[in-house]
Amino acid sequence: MVLSGVLLYASRNTFNYLIKSQYQAYHDFLTSLGNRHYFIELLNNAMKSQKQTNTHIYLLLIDLDYFKTINDTLGHDIGDVLLRQVAKRMLSLSKEYNNNVSRLGGDEFCILSSDYATKKECIEQASHFSQKLLEVIRESYRIGEHHLYISASIGVSIISNPKIDASTFVKEADIAMYEAKVQGRNGIIFFNDKLAKRVERKLEIERLLHFSLDNNEISLAYQPQYNPENEIIGCEVLARWDNEKLGEVGPAEFIPISEKTGFIIELGYEILKESFYTFKKWEDKGISLQQMSINISMRQLFHHTFLDDIKELCDKYLTKEQCSKIVFEITETTVAEDVKQLITNMKILQSYGIRFSMDDFGTGYSSLSYLRQLPVDEIKIDKSFISELNTLENEEDRYFIKTIFAIAKNLRLNIVAEGIENEEQRKFLVDQKCDVLQGYYFSKPMKADAFEKLFLDAKAHSS
Ligand code: C2E
Ligand code: CA
Ligand code: CA
Repeated sequence: MVLSGVLLYASRNTFNYLIKSQYQAYHDFLTSLGNRHYFIELLNNAMKSQKQTNTHIYLLLIDLDYFKTINDTLGHDIGDVLLRQVAKRMLSLSKEYNNNVSRLGGDEFCILSSDYATKKECIEQASHFSQKLLEVIRESYRIGEHHLYISASIGVSIISNPKIDASTFVKEADIAMYEAKVQGRNGIIFFNDKLAKRVERKLEIERLLHFSLDNNEISLAYQPQYNPENEIIGCEVLARWDNEKLGEVGPAEFIPISEKTGFIIELGYEILKESFYTFKKWEDKGISLQQMSINISMRQLFHHTFLDDIKELCDKYLTKEQCSKIVFEITETTVAEDVKQLITNMKILQSYGIRFSMDDFGTGYSSLSYLRQLPVDEIKIDKSFISELNTLENEEDRYFIKTIFAIAKNLRLNIVAEGIENEEQRKFLVDQKCDVLQGYYFSKPMKADAFEKLFLDAKAHSS
């Protein structure tokens, strides 16, 4: 009697324990919603039954906008409460629509709908529900003394073909969600063929880039830079990629991809090596430039071997005086993670003689505050401002450029203008006392030998 009581007690405990661990394995501790495991199982089951019924389901991937900022500024406790409140709102709306919501992790949620007989109805419902969801999430939150607002980016994938595996649909929704972020957040994007093609091309570029250096597919072009007297005084180095399968791919496309994958470290090093080598070769041939500008990605600047690599290249190819003619163009599109480290690295490079130029000046929202902090020697006005000068009646743009000049002169910075395409623009910039001019009006980027010829011909002409 006593023995069976103990057994009964033990098995009930085991049972409770199993239920509890089962619950924990499938649920999210913070919000009590289903977790990623739960969601994948739910999706697999839904797709299994869909095979028999020939129905359609929608899948939403929801990512909160700028949630990290809330965590960073108000602390994780507030962040956690906010996540719980958002989850509660999602859950209550989802219940109304018979949808199922899970938390995948962080500030990322997934919602799976019930079945719809036609694809058209499924798409309409997905659109209607997502819209409602955005509205609900955007209503203000009260947490302690804080009134908080948050929006979300939603990616939608329509599941109509259960032959494709579950993870593909999650990936599709993820791609669409990312696109919603790119398009300014607080929006809904349905996965579509255009997005699929773009992603496919990106992956293809990513794959083929890896062989580009070994196959000698990367080359450098040099775009001449002029002084107000129309003399060539420098050049900007621009990377070119010619691939057998893809043809010519522009750096505006392949540089961001190589930054994302980290390939820029290897690629950037080769570009630097070739540029330094060319600069040295030109010096030896009497092609003496005041500056050679090389584009440098933030990721390179922060890489742990970068300072040593540059030191080594300087020592190998250039004298200290020649080093002082090398300009690194940096762009500030996002807030650098670690401004202090950035300044330290820049100062070390400056001690080798390297100068810095703030590229695309005027486009980044933080350019002005950065300009005060970072030890730059030159600013490069973005070509979008120069092209606006085309319509010379546009007083406002001219005023804006004049302001940039005033700031730069005040800070004793050199000014380079790029993207000059006609005489009107050139004249206006020269009148503003622009130091260096660059653009198709003077010359397009060209291969090293063409640059040499252009320079030497011009020199022969003037003497
Ligand atoms: P960027 O640094 O702003 O370079 C200027 C871009 O404007 C170049 O395009 C150049 O060919 C183009 N351009 C020059 N003059 C004119 C003009 O008068 N009109 C117009 N419409 N465009 C003009 P490109 O060569 O396609 O380079 C695009 C971007 O790729 C560069 O923008 C730079 O951000 C990046 N990039 C290029 N080479 C490298 C590199 O070696 N390393 C890194 N990190 N980035 C690079
Ligand atoms: Ca540049
Ligand atoms: Ca630029």
